[in-house]
Amino acid sequence: MKSNRLPNLVRWLLILGITFLALQHFLMRQPLNVPISVIEQSIASGSVERLRFHPESLYVEAFIKPSDKNSKGGTLVQARAVSPQHLDEIRRRAEAKGIMYGTANPPNPFWASMFSMVLYISIFCGIWYFIAMRQGGKSGGRGMFNFGDSPAKRFQPGLRPKKTFADVAGCDEAKEELKEIVDFLQNPGDFMRLGSRIPKGVLLVGDPGTGKTLLAQAVAGEASVSFLSANGSEFVEMFVGVGASRIRSLFEEAKKIAPCIVFIDEIDAIGKKRGVAVGGGHDEREHALNQLLGELDGFVGNNKIVVIAATNRVDVLDEALIRPGRFDRQVYVPVPDVAGRKAILEVHVKNVKLAPAVDLEIVAKDTAGMVGADLQNVVNEATLFATRKKKSAVEQSDFSEAVDKVTMGAERKSMRLSEKEKKLTAYHEAGHALVALLTKDANPLHKITIIPRGQALGYTKQLPPDNHCTTKEELFARVKVAVGGRAAEELVFNTVTTGAYSDFLNATFVLRRMVYEFGMSENAGLVVHKEKTDFFGHPSGVDASQKTKELLEKEVNDKLNEIYKQVKKLLEEHRVKLDLLAALLLEKETVTADEVRKTLSLPAIQ
Ligand code: ADP
Ligand code: ZN
Repeated sequence: MKSNRLPNLVRWLLILGITFLALQHFLMRQPLNVPISVIEQSIASGSVERLRFHPESLYVEAFIKPSDKNSKGGTLVQARAVSPQHLDEIRRRAEAKGIMYGTANPPNPFWASMFSMVLYISIFCGIWYFIAMRQGGKSGGRGMFNFGDSPAKRFQPGLRPKKTFADVAGCDEAKEELKEIVDFLQNPGDFMRLGSRIPKGVLLVGDPGTGKTLLAQAVAGEASVSFLSANGSEFVEMFVGVGASRIRSLFEEAKKIAPCIVFIDEIDAIGKKRGVAVGGGHDEREHALNQLLGELDGFVGNNKIVVIAATNRVDVLDEALIRPGRFDRQVYVPVPDVAGRKAILEVHVKNVKLAPAVDLEIVAKDTAGMVGADLQNVVNEATLFATRKKKSAVEQSDFSEAVDKVTMGAERKSMRLSEKEKKLTAYHEAGHALVALLTKDANPLHKITIIPRGQALGYTKQLPPDNHCTTKEELFARVKVAVGGRAAEELVFNTVTTGAYSDFLNATFVLRRMVYEFGMSENAGLVVHKEKTDFFGHPSGVDASQKTKELLEKEVNDKLNEIYKQVKKLLEEHRVKLDLLAALLLEKETVTADEVRKTLSLPAIQ
């Protein structure tokens, strides 16, 4: 939810206040026009409380008391005297009766009061418009009179995406499941003849950048139907009903251009569980959600519209959305494994000139944890590196530079480390690397650098294995490698630096999960103590008694200290290797695992 949304209460107070002002101005302050004789009679009967004269326009304003003396209030009336003499005559009679009088502002003729009312309304509309523009800033010149305009219009309706399944790699199962949608869109008749249930909504679930949008486009491309796309957040607007009406127009548009795919990205923006949100935009979202549910339910089979929605948080979605007949099909779009990454890289290097020696397998191994969007970025960066160096083709080294840049940020060439800092960094990284080399279950070392990049002064990279579950030993090895940097600093310089902060963060994170969630500590037992989150998704502590919490925390702390001691001892025993490695780093700044193994006379792997 956007934070600049005014809370509902403020919104309604604003509207009410301005309406009240305008009404008051128009109805209350405007004197009633009466014939002048009415005022004259009222003066004679003594029912006028006060009078005001406006000699230039000859207007008389009178406040007439009600005939019942006990009731409060009265009526403000105005009339025009026939001539200045007439006005004088009235004043004299009033004086004789002892009625208060004075001069009046120019009378408020009807048009003047209309004018001010129009002014009020324009100011009000202006404010409304201003807020609406700020809210819908993304969409440009959307005015107040077309709030309900379908955002999908901006996505070139009728356009058939050129993407096909061949453009999506590394998620074969997702593609397999989506083929059914393609079949339905191509041959709805066949589909219904056999009595299959018609797919209405498909939910693509996966991390950002895994290719959900791409998949939806590919479905449209494969079936050669149109593609309408919108983002969930576009349906959550400040004004109740706007989002709902946008959804309505989105589906109207869809019906016009069917067969088509309607793609709603980030559906969680509207599809969050109802009654959970606090503050503004809440009932608005409910409206939008109800409208969406209504549209989905209203589909009849021959509409030939399939709605594909994407989210990375299926757990927060309202159950009503994932009920049968709505988004009842969930297709999981995974973070790619090594084979998937290689396939994605192959898709993206199609139009890139590669040197014959380039092995994408290595790049794939080098990019564990990256999703399709990152890999596309890597290819792009590699091409840029090669271009800058005026190469005729992209080489392997360009890829490894690109991977470093995408993971760690650009090299900070301008950053000059002092000799001492450089030495500290060299030992720190050598510590990580040596522990990785000497620990049985650690991930294999890949490369070490002491060239500052992004936030880091140096970096030791290991190749993670592409397995789906991790053993206790592997996790402990991770913690050992993480604390290796600090252990080396302490061992060699007898001091410690702030540089190990993120290492300890990592180590603590891994250890905590081992103790709290994976049941990998004898003392803490097997019960899962997961971190809870509150209303807003902020962590709100662990679900356990105070005593248990203390036990768990102590367990993490003890383990970390124990491991740190072990690692320091290990490095002490291999001090010669540590010195050699640090010296190598100081000399070369970036070294590969092979060079390290050669220098330390360790057997090469494989
Ligand atoms: P999401 O919608 O899941 O956030 P996108 O579909 O917008 O991800 O992906 C962004 C870009 O990353 C795509 O346009 C595509 O170029 C690339 N990409 C992502 N996943 C893949 C994939 N599986 N295969 C090929 N390219 C991909
Ligand atoms: Zn470190």
